[in-house]
Amino acid sequence: MREQPGGLTPFRRLLRRLRDIMAADLPAEQRLQQTVSLIAADMVAEVCSVYVMRAGEVLELFATHGLRREAIHKTRLRVGEGLVGDIAAHARPLALADAQSHPNFAYRPETGEEIYHSLMGVPILRGGRVLGVLVVQNRTRRNYTEDDVEALQTIVMVLAELVASGELVSPEERRPSEGTGLLPIRLEGLALNPGIAIGVAVLHEPGVVLTRIVAEDPEAELDRLRQAVLGMQDALDDLIASADLAQGEERDILETYRMFAQDRGWITRIAEAIRSGLTAEAAVQKVKDDTRARLSQATDPYLRERLSDLDDLANRLIEHLTATEERPRRQRAPEGAILVARSLGPAELLDYGRRRIKGLVLEEGSPTAHVSIVARALGIPVLGRVANALIRVEAGDSLILDADNEQVFLRPREDILAAYQETLSDRDRKRRAFALTRDLPPVTRDGVRLSLNINAGLLIDLRQLAETGADGVGLYRTEIPFMVRSSFPDVSSQAEIYRRVLDQADGCPVTFRTLDVGGDKALPYWHEEGDENPAMGWRAIRIGLDRPALLRQQLRAMIRAAAGRPLSLMFPLIAQVSEFERARSVLDLELERAAQRQEPLPERLSIGVMLEVPALLWQLPALLRRVDFLSVGTNDLQQFLFASDRGNPRLAHRYDMLSPAMLKILAGIADAAESAGVSAAVCGEMAGQPLEAMALAALGFRNLSMAPPAIGPVRAMARSLDLGSAGAFLRSRLDAPEPSLRQRLQSYARDHEVAV
Ligand code: PEP
Ligand code: MG
Repeated sequence: MREQPGGLTPFRRLLRRLRDIMAADLPAEQRLQQTVSLIAADMVAEVCSVYVMRAGEVLELFATHGLRREAIHKTRLRVGEGLVGDIAAHARPLALADAQSHPNFAYRPETGEEIYHSLMGVPILRGGRVLGVLVVQNRTRRNYTEDDVEALQTIVMVLAELVASGELVSPEERRPSEGTGLLPIRLEGLALNPGIAIGVAVLHEPGVVLTRIVAEDPEAELDRLRQAVLGMQDALDDLIASADLAQGEERDILETYRMFAQDRGWITRIAEAIRSGLTAEAAVQKVKDDTRARLSQATDPYLRERLSDLDDLANRLIEHLTATEERPRRQRAPEGAILVARSLGPAELLDYGRRRIKGLVLEEGSPTAHVSIVARALGIPVLGRVANALIRVEAGDSLILDADNEQVFLRPREDILAAYQETLSDRDRKRRAFALTRDLPPVTRDGVRLSLNINAGLLIDLRQLAETGADGVGLYRTEIPFMVRSSFPDVSSQAEIYRRVLDQADGCPVTFRTLDVGGDKALPYWHEEGDENPAMGWRAIRIGLDRPALLRQQLRAMIRAAAGRPLSLMFPLIAQVSEFERARSVLDLELERAAQRQEPLPERLSIGVMLEVPALLWQLPALLRRVDFLSVGTNDLQQFLFASDRGNPRLAHRYDMLSPAMLKILAGIADAAESAGVSAAVCGEMAGQPLEAMALAALGFRNLSMAPPAIGPVRAMARSLDLGSAGAFLRSRLDAPEPSLRQRLQSYARDHEVAV
């Protein structure tokens, strides 16, 4: 930046003059007009204009120096329209020497801008939202430098406060029309953690209003920054120490997060912004806005997910910088709060006090974001990707969060509220009733013992073994520890995790699945090209076979963890026998090496595959001669069978798991496994639905693995089922030319008093 030795740099002088204009006792529009003239002069630009966001995502020209004055309040552009709309749509700066030849250029005759060739614009951001756009234009084809863009971004920090103050456009106007008034509304989102909660909305609005933007003394600001960073790090240490989470991945997450707080790059960028003339808090805000604009364009899901961690840290640091005795650092939520936030970091969630928060509604979020994982560990339902939640929900609104059906009701009507209260107490009653049956064996009426197991992926899930009375862990998804770290966990840390899993399972069998990442579950330390069709892309065992070192390390860790105990493991997404053979030979080699090193080997080995790819069905006999067990992953099998994306809500109800096609395939698998004397399990979500579990048992599956809350209902189903009769009923209908046998199975269950 245009730094001069000694004294005030011209840029800092500009910031101070802007600050003085902001503080002047003049109407807001007049202050804005003075501002654009000052910026135009300072940037040696013929034009400087400000467009402000109005209702309906329209950007309106509010002040200009250089364009025709009559265009003020007349020129309007939609977000995405023209270059100004483009800047707003992407929340990122644009600098063009020849703006008019840009494909997005939109000519507005009333402005008289045809004589200006070059254009530089930056979004006016506040808390990550675009409030407007600041543009400068020049007659010549000027090549604006990165420093110019940087300077303009700092200038808009000052302007953002004026635009956000509500003096130009009232905050009510920006509220989407359907959110006005206090009508009940229903919003949709993506379930990040299941469950239902009824509570009172608490808006997580980290936006502390910054009252000081321009620094008097940069050295003093740098000092404040240093103090605040130390204070924040201490407070984080305390928070993590008192978080009372299991010793598992949740703690790893918080440790990773703490590492962000010590990131030198981040702190250096803040210090640079202070040196350009901003106060420490404004500098943190600027770096936060810049990072958000940069990362929200990233296609890498890991980077996008880290955004909420970075936002969380920035907010935390701003709070440390601005906290006073009258305004304590953070509000506590009232009992029964449902937190509504754009995004949230894991530590922010803990800050609110885990027992007070009943649910979480996020505008952003993804199933593997840190906050989702921590919320899951705490049993808090989460609904993500709820568009405009923060502007639609009023603080104190009553809310029903129904993550199970991917919806949230704001200010629900009495009858809806009553229905949900009924559902909740019914669930509660059932939970208590199922808890009483936890020690009853899942034996059918005709005396067949089923094995009911849980699916797990976090250490904390293992508590559910004792709570549900399940037999073991039928599917341990190993990917989470890989996804929450910033580098590949080495053999000893992997071994430590698996050892703890086996310790906590306390003798109950656990089946580990080797890594199923890739595609959309990207690892931060891999920078592979994204697949166009991730579910069918380079994922799971395909990666393991192409990068055998990864697979080898994971297998070595499992062998070490098991030492002297049984080890059961399976490979995901096997499509042909040769893939299993190659994976198996990697395992054999590791066993051999462990023996050579005289390490204690597993007491017993049980090696299986997940049957998820239809092609494997045509090699079943050969496969069954080679494996100890099969586990059918019905989530993937169904999506590949019907060519129907399992994550696409539009297709969610199009093809039924209880279709004759799926059931016939499952019957074939059960029969082939039985005649080969190999155990066949089902570990897809299907196994956790009582009606579907009834069908699976009827077809011959004796081993089912499911989400822990499903154990009680499936046990009740099993104990009321006559397998012989249900098997005969279902098998005689497998050739029916119907899309689903659901209704027939429901009638069967009703007629035979099967608890589904
Ligand atoms: C499945 O595909 O059914 C399965 C259990 O694996 P995941 O859901 O982890 O893909
Ligand atoms: Mg799968």
